[in-house]
Amino acid sequence: MLYVYNTLSRSKEIFRPFRGNDVNMFVCGQTVYDDAHLGHAKNYINFDVIARWLRFSGYNVKYIQNITDVDDKIINRANENGEEPAELARRYEARFMEDMDAIGVRKGVDKYPRSHDYIDAIRDQIQMLLDKGYAYIIEDDVYYDVLKFGDYTKLSGMRIEELAKHRIEPREGKRNPYDFSLWKGAKEGEPSWKIKLKADGTERVVDGRPGWHIEDTAITATLLGKQYDIHGGAIELIFPHHTNEIAQAEAAFDVKPFVKYWLHSGIMLIKGEKMSKSLKNFIRIRDLLKMYDAEALRLLVCSAHYRTDMIYTDNMMKIAQSRLRYLYASFSIFYNMKSSKSEIRCAEVDEIIGRLEKGFGEAMDDDFNSPMALSVLSSTIEGLRSYAESYPEISTQSKDVAVKEVINFAGVLGILEKDSYKNKLPDKASDMIKEREQLRKEKRFNEADSIRDRLKSEFGIIVEDSGFGSIWYGAG
Ligand SMILES: [Zn+2]
Repeated sequence: MLYVYNTLSRSKEIFRPFRGNDVNMFVCGQTVYDDAHLGHAKNYINFDVIARWLRFSGYNVKYIQNITDVDDKIINRANENGEEPAELARRYEARFMEDMDAIGVRKGVDKYPRSHDYIDAIRDQIQMLLDKGYAYIIEDDVYYDVLKFGDYTKLSGMRIEELAKHRIEPREGKRNPYDFSLWKGAKEGEPSWKIKLKADGTERVVDGRPGWHIEDTAITATLLGKQYDIHGGAIELIFPHHTNEIAQAEAAFDVKPFVKYWLHSGIMLIKGEKMSKSLKNFIRIRDLLKMYDAEALRLLVCSAHYRTDMIYTDNMMKIAQSRLRYLYASFSIFYNMKSSKSEIRCAEVDEIIGRLEKGFGEAMDDDFNSPMALSVLSSTIEGLRSYAESYPEISTQSKDVAVKEVINFAGVLGILEKDSYKNKLPDKASDMIKEREQLRKEKRFNEADSIRDRLKSEFGIIVEDSGFGSIWYGAG
């Protein structure tokens, strides 16, 4: 039984989708005006692992993530560069897709719809809100009347008086200071669309572009329906973004709840501050991947629960890289152990795998507890390595099952997806590594170092001493 923490109820609930085994999931996506950084990587890896676990558990997941390609930030950046906003957005969208591919996230998302392709759906939704009296027009701007919607603060838990403390857009004629934009009138030098709206019995054309919040509900209504199962995003989006989405969709479609489970991920901190474009303290995904494996980044992200904020340091990244290499090296020892066709199952290995299935499942079913799942996976691989180092051979059947299960479960976190564990160390290299470990125990470091040099020059194998023991990589 899967339990998920729902921001809406502020509690863990049993996960029951609206329609049997089908899960419709939407996660707020990227505004494409610059490269994605590690804060984005954390968020998208978090939700990728959630989607992977749902699919692993047998759900049919339809996972949508929008691309915001009409936005102030895009327009401002394009003006600085002296280029068309659409051109800038396309360029950064392509780079974003490369980054998402590199960190194993892109293939899990069924569709990345672009906001500007949904102008008709946005118009229709604004019209519904006008018809029901939730929206009003001032010249070419359209606003949502927040006080008209009774449940406005249910997601954030804020008091209505607190709203005024947040950033508000001043505009003469607004009914309440915190009413938000559904449609922004065209300004000089900005992309705009002309849409037809009917209000108070008269039809008019308003020239402008969509507000930020309406793009999500127009996209989800089109692709997932008026009500769907999971909406994800970073915790900072609860107010106003997700609050406004609820107000729009529940008023327009007469549904409650618009989304059944609201899942929010913690943020990435660096040197005590949020990693962000505006603070200029960010590390681009593509820059990090010049130095580290993408799987090491996934391992780092999975080592914290998705709801908690995560502190990034270079040292933690180095440790994650070592831990990943240690898992590959250890799993390789088991994978390459001698096997025989004997029909006898190896009880010890079967038990290790039984603990993996149970422990990993329990961890992920408890609100996607990836750090616990990762620790179960690590101890499984350590158990298999120590089995391989204790026994001369294993039955082929037991080994095949164990290998398959480890790869399946590791795949939920998106690690051990490369075949390099299959590479067998040459016997001589393996002996040299053991000899080197022995020499280090005897503190004969000069001799140990010379073996390390020979491993590199003769076999292309790099040996490092990490907190996890000695690790090697680069063979084959
Ligand atoms: Zn969004």
